[in-house]
Amino acid sequence: MPGLVTGAVLVGVDAVLVSVEVDLLRRLPSVAIVGLPSPSVREAAERVRSAILASGFEFPRYRVVISLAPADLRKDGTGFDLPMALAILAASGVVDKARAARWCFAGELSLSGELRPVRGALSIACAARDGQFEGCVLPAANGAEGALVERLDVRTSHTLRDVVDFLNGSGDLPLAAHAAPLPDPDALDLRDVQGQLEARAALEVAAAGGHNLLFEGPPGCGKTMLAARLPGILPPLTHAEGLECTRIHSAAGLRRAESGLVTSRPFRAPHHSASAAAMVGGADLRPGEASLAHHGVLFLDEFPEFRRDVREALRAPLEDRKVVVSRVGGRVSFPASFALVAAANPCPCGYAGHPTRACMCSPSARMRYRGQLSGPIVDRIDLRVVLSPVEPAELFASKPGECSAAVRERVLHARARQHLRNGGRTNAAVAADEVVPLADPTEPALRHLVAHAEVAGTSARVSRRILRVARTVADLDGAARVEVQHVDRALTLRFDGEEEVVP
Ligand SMILES: [Zn+2]
Repeated sequence: MPGLVTGAVLVGVDAVLVSVEVDLLRRLPSVAIVGLPSPSVREAAERVRSAILASGFEFPRYRVVISLAPADLRKDGTGFDLPMALAILAASGVVDKARAARWCFAGELSLSGELRPVRGALSIACAARDGQFEGCVLPAANGAEGALVERLDVRTSHTLRDVVDFLNGSGDLPLAAHAAPLPDPDALDLRDVQGQLEARAALEVAAAGGHNLLFEGPPGCGKTMLAARLPGILPPLTHAEGLECTRIHSAAGLRRAESGLVTSRPFRAPHHSASAAAMVGGADLRPGEASLAHHGVLFLDEFPEFRRDVREALRAPLEDRKVVVSRVGGRVSFPASFALVAAANPCPCGYAGHPTRACMCSPSARMRYRGQLSGPIVDRIDLRVVLSPVEPAELFASKPGECSAAVRERVLHARARQHLRNGGRTNAAVAADEVVPLADPTEPALRHLVAHAEVAGTSARVSRRILRVARTVADLDGAARVEVQHVDRALTLRFDGEEEVVP
């Protein structure tokens, strides 16, 4: 009699249920796994054998055929160890077959039969619930994630032995417990930022209208410090958004055992040496930085130093709000809706135009560096602000800046206005042909914008971009129509100069 147990495989951030069927044939003892197993799943045979023996059970002296279905779906990861072990024990009559078939299982086994955490536990438990299973057994270290799934009996276990006892009715397993909310050690407040009023204003406009942002300035002027405070002034993460973030981070294997739901907006700052696969997700089908920043902020410091292909790879998520990765047997999609903050130095050494320090770069190196600040990604950046180094006097004399909570309050009001007017979209997300009707500029404001376009020679596309920003400024102002002063403000928040600073 074959043993049938259900596990799950991650496809992107979602889990797909996989039935694990074991048949014992009267042939020379061996183990065969069929149904498109990856090398890591093939290796499971040895772990499962050792774990079964170490747990005090006998490993069947038959030819063990393990079939994973659906057969055309590639099975990856180590989460199949537990369902395979249970299916073998069910086939050999050790485990209550009927009960084992009603539950879903995930877990990596150590050689001694202990259960180790798996990636994507939250998604696996969700799949078990959607598949109408009675419950789901997860490794103890994944318990906090499992507890987030409602309307499902989620149990946790430390060992294979305990799971067997539970299924046979001779022992119980604890219910998955919620993790105590962690105090947020990364809560960064705008209060800590001295001066930089222009950059703070740009940050507020970016948060209010969903605009991407570019900071330019010498090292040490606070670009990173400012960018890291953007999540704190964006609207608070909703429960549904938090669940989505948790699933992504769990699929990437980033969840710590003691942490449950992601409750604050992610801030990701990959190094400029990152590969395209690390940035948008890749061959091993883990989500990349763009997806880890979903519902949060992706910060690219020293943007011109990123490889061109890495920058280009961000074009798709900036447009479609998702990343699509090709894989064996189809394509996988990862959500990737983030606010982009890029930062650049004035030149490779960072000191062109600095009041006291000399730039060491050749004119051609400077040109090359500046040249990287154009192209499809920079074209999608609405706000571009030049920062100057903070004067020492400003550092010590100025009173603390306004706190993030006060700024967030204004952002929420501005977002509420947009939500009503734009049908749920931010100003940055409004389509090109809708910008003018939705922004509703007054006659003088429109004339002002046209006059600027004529003098500066800006394209229609750039003018629309300026109008989008002006709309957000007006929303922060509580104004129904875009007026001249809003256009003016938008123009100062969009430095387009490319002048070469000669030291
Ligand atoms: Zn330089």
